[in-house]
Amino acid sequence: MELWFDEMHTRNARFGLRIKRELEHVRSKYQDIHVFETYDYGNLLVIDGTVQTTERDEFIYHEMIVHVPMLTHPNPKRVLIIGGGDGGAAREALKHDPNEIHVVEIDEKVVELSKKYFPNIARAYDDKRVKLHVEDGIEFVKKNAGFDVIIVDSTDPVGPATGLFEEEFYKSIKNALSPNGVVAQQCGTPFYHPEETCKAYALLSKLFKNVKIYLAYIPTYPSGMWSFVIASDMEIKERRKKSFETKYYNSEIYESSMVLPNFVKEHCENYRE
Ligand code: SAM
Repeated sequence: MELWFDEMHTRNARFGLRIKRELEHVRSKYQDIHVFETYDYGNLLVIDGTVQTTERDEFIYHEMIVHVPMLTHPNPKRVLIIGGGDGGAAREALKHDPNEIHVVEIDEKVVELSKKYFPNIARAYDDKRVKLHVEDGIEFVKKNAGFDVIIVDSTDPVGPATGLFEEEFYKSIKNALSPNGVVAQQCGTPFYHPEETCKAYALLSKLFKNVKIYLAYIPTYPSGMWSFVIASDMEIKERRKKSFETKYYNSEIYESSMVLPNFVKEHCENYRE
């Protein structure tokens, strides 16, 4: 008998990965978490039925959520990651040699399972500049400030992540950034949910002088087309050239990821809250 993990992308469309076995199933205080061993994508982390990360394609998401904002900043020394308990964003942020990286993850089970089943992603936690705070990111940004770059690497806006896509949270983000700080957030798939991308873009545009949507192509995420929003009071451009290995990111991709298809542009131009 074959075993498959299927994620429903809509009521009538689904994406499947053939699995060798279930490695773990935990119901944490916040969410339902599975780890599977797959045939083609290595280990797979699933939260509330949705793919969070796979060993095979995680580099695309983590490089794009981190290097775009980090290379927009001239000299990021204090970095905040909200969510990102798997450690992948912290691993990429370390390549910029910051002084401190604060990872604020609400669910310690995600960290624990990542250390056990995704050692190449979670290895960032071995670096003493990476500090883990097990708490709600919404509360953390109200109390802490002075970050050069903030990366919101959360689940989609359901459950504990709902408030991470609201105006109040973005105001706290603005206050928590140092002058000329940069924020980037994952905003779901504009193919199925353009309103998610456009809402973040619209709300951040009220607070920052410059806001852009950018895209990456991630095979295991719904539709493969994934969006991020970046915002700053500085002009958004690549200010530094990378001095480290990447498998997806390069300077041409920085530019091209911000070129949007018409259906995304039109949806966001016409978006009203
Ligand atoms: N790569 C992922 C994606 O887009 O599918 C996101 C990865 S990461 C595992 C997302 C993390 O955000 C989860 O571990 C979840 O527990 C965390 N999270 C959700 N809401 C949060 C909140 N309010 N504060 C801090 N962490 C939160």
